[in-house]
Amino acid sequence: MRRADPQRGVPTSDIVDRGEVLLRRVLAGSGATEGSEDSPLRHAATLPARPGTPVPWPEWVPRSVRSAFVDHGVRAPWSHQAHAGSLAHGGRDVVVATGTASGKSLVYQLAVLSRFAVDPRATALYLSPTKALAADQLRALHVLDLPDVRPAALDGDTPMDERDWVRNHARWIFSNPDMLHRSVLPRHSRWASFLRRLDVVVLDECHTYRGVFGSHVALLLRRLLRVAARYGAHPTIVLASATVAEPAAFATRLTGRPVEAVTADGSPHAGRTVALWEPPLLPELTGENGAPVRRPAGTESARMLADLVVEGARTLAFVRSRRGAELTALGAQRLLADVDPDLVSRVAAYRGGYLPEERRALEAALADGELLGVATTNALELGVDIAGLDAVVVAGFPGTRASFWQQAGRAGRSADSALVVLVARDDPMNTYLVHHPDALLGAPVEGCVLDPTNPYVLAPQLVCAAAELPLTVQDVAEVFGGKAAAAVLEELVADGTLRRRPTGWFWPTPRERPAGSVDLRGSGLGQVAVVEAGTGRMLGTVDASSAPATAHPGAVYLHRGESYLVEELDLDAGVALVAAADPEWRTDARSTGDVEVVRVLSQRGYGPVQVSFAEVSVTSQVVAYQRRAPDGTVLETVPLDMPEQTLRTRSVFYDIDEDALLSAGVGPDDVPGALHAAEHAAIGLLPLFAICDRWDIGGMSTALHPHTGRPTVFVHDGHPGGAGFAERGHDVLGAWLTATRSAIRDCECRSGCPSCVQSPKCGNGNVPLDKGGAVAVLDVVLGALAIGARGIGAARAGSGG
Ligand SMILES: [Zn+2]
Ligand SMILES: [Zn+2]
Repeated sequence: MRRADPQRGVPTSDIVDRGEVLLRRVLAGSGATEGSEDSPLRHAATLPARPGTPVPWPEWVPRSVRSAFVDHGVRAPWSHQAHAGSLAHGGRDVVVATGTASGKSLVYQLAVLSRFAVDPRATALYLSPTKALAADQLRALHVLDLPDVRPAALDGDTPMDERDWVRNHARWIFSNPDMLHRSVLPRHSRWASFLRRLDVVVLDECHTYRGVFGSHVALLLRRLLRVAARYGAHPTIVLASATVAEPAAFATRLTGRPVEAVTADGSPHAGRTVALWEPPLLPELTGENGAPVRRPAGTESARMLADLVVEGARTLAFVRSRRGAELTALGAQRLLADVDPDLVSRVAAYRGGYLPEERRALEAALADGELLGVATTNALELGVDIAGLDAVVVAGFPGTRASFWQQAGRAGRSADSALVVLVARDDPMNTYLVHHPDALLGAPVEGCVLDPTNPYVLAPQLVCAAAELPLTVQDVAEVFGGKAAAAVLEELVADGTLRRRPTGWFWPTPRERPAGSVDLRGSGLGQVAVVEAGTGRMLGTVDASSAPATAHPGAVYLHRGESYLVEELDLDAGVALVAAADPEWRTDARSTGDVEVVRVLSQRGYGPVQVSFAEVSVTSQVVAYQRRAPDGTVLETVPLDMPEQTLRTRSVFYDIDEDALLSAGVGPDDVPGALHAAEHAAIGLLPLFAICDRWDIGGMSTALHPHTGRPTVFVHDGHPGGAGFAERGHDVLGAWLTATRSAIRDCECRSGCPSCVQSPKCGNGNVPLDKGGAVAVLDVVLGALAIGARGIGAARAGSGG
């Protein structure tokens, strides 16, 4: 591939490392000098190119399969592919958790195709979270062109008459959890011949099965395995995951069976310079309560994009929303117009088109250098064949390491190193990451959590299961999690949903199929449909529990990077009406809440500090929303009249002895602000350890809580029954609060800003907040935890950085 315009910019011939050259250009463009006080560059790491570790084809791979791969350019498998494939071949459930583009598909292709070649009757089921990904995998399989595989897609678009063919003839079905849940399992007798011969189940991108959705999928898998077993099938499970903490434990929780993990990546990758960038505070602007404002990640990225284009570097900039992507491209074009008008037309925003021909056109334009710079939303994450770019700019951490590396993976070719820049957005997690490179570059600390014992998820899933096949005592004990399931069944019998007979639990109306009304993404409180007012088109759903915060009138609702304004929210009817709009602001709902402890599940004292995990009842109310300009300044605060909601969920909390706080310099008057600031930052940092979104968790702090009688900080799940986020926080409390303290301390603001302790969803208008006090509070807690841990010889709390 030709590199466009190599003559532009500084000559690169005498410097070997392209990534470093580009970084120097970006740094020069910022006006700061390298290593100086005002430099926004917080860290630069050189990741050397890594050669791959190819190994011979395992002996069990049949000749026909081997030659199909060899004919398509796979001369030999990488070590992790052969290792994981061999485990699966031996009947072990296996999760392969290696980097982006490390060839995880080959693992399950090998496992399935080898099995097919030996057993001409065997079948396989592939499940992926998105239709697009399943389509890509199906296409890749067609390319191999092996006889007698008969792969087929089964999704919402598959016509009814084709479904008959799929059922009767396909050997490898590419589908998704929703189809399995609504279509296959409720009518399993029609799928008997496929299920009877089911040999391998593939779960691709399994790290997306987390939280409430993950808890549903975990129980759905148990339903599948139970039904398959009834037909005599005991399939092997092969899972592919992004690199996350403890993949084996996660996969085991997801499948309910012991899973072995393969994490040693044997694939090659190009050299990269990864730069962590923190845009400067803007002295001329002030935000809420006079807080300083940081230059927005989008503006900073537009400037970098322009500099890199001048340098002739083919660059992708990832921005959160489509509007943001357009502003970034526009910003870059304006800067280029002054430097070299010819370059203006070589920068574009990727306009969210998901049509294959649009994607292909974009790929071609970037590949041949017609386009040099493209700003895009995350839409490009999946299903677009763009790789080998010179630079990638990530405007704001995309939420997970997996997404970040997916985006970063677009840069770098084998021969030449590339540049990847993470530009921090103004929140505590971004602040922490740019100050702690290990959290991005070291071993993963982010875990995937789910909770298959959540009664709000168990209830609908057990009803579906009972409708598929009556539940036996043995099923309950061995498949569905024992005690928790038994308690839920008792309630389902009491309210007449299920019937108890001596042989087990029955669904009383066999003609009705409960799966139709059970939403795999729902928390049991129902869903609010988001509908475009003009066209009646349904864009998506939001959980009823989070609708007042995300779909209140006036809210900017983002759908696949497109902006809509909510016109009306009818919680009783379960509908939010929206209209396409292009507002120049974003909105943040503000809510207040109260937490009542219902039942303590675990509690431990550490001197002046006590740490608990409990069932709680959270009462919350959305009281207002704020309109904010792209630079973060508040345009308007609009009061809202939303109903109060009560949520039974789970919470981690700690309470502290007042004297210990006083000794640490936090007097009675400072306690509320100090706790409040510590709470905000902790909520901001939890997603580093348990992949989740803003609305998956909430918190509350108080100088005197009736349950503890002391100053207390809560961080709780945002879903009924909990989804594992607070539990994970409880498990990694020391590391989590250490990171929280760092994010607060590392922020250069004086008394608190959105990058550290201010929260965009605070119902109290971010008052009071005491930044210094928060650090003191966390010092007390971490000090107590450390002494406690030393006392029992456990590992001392500490974060990667
Ligand atoms: Zn700050
Ligand atoms: Zn607050």
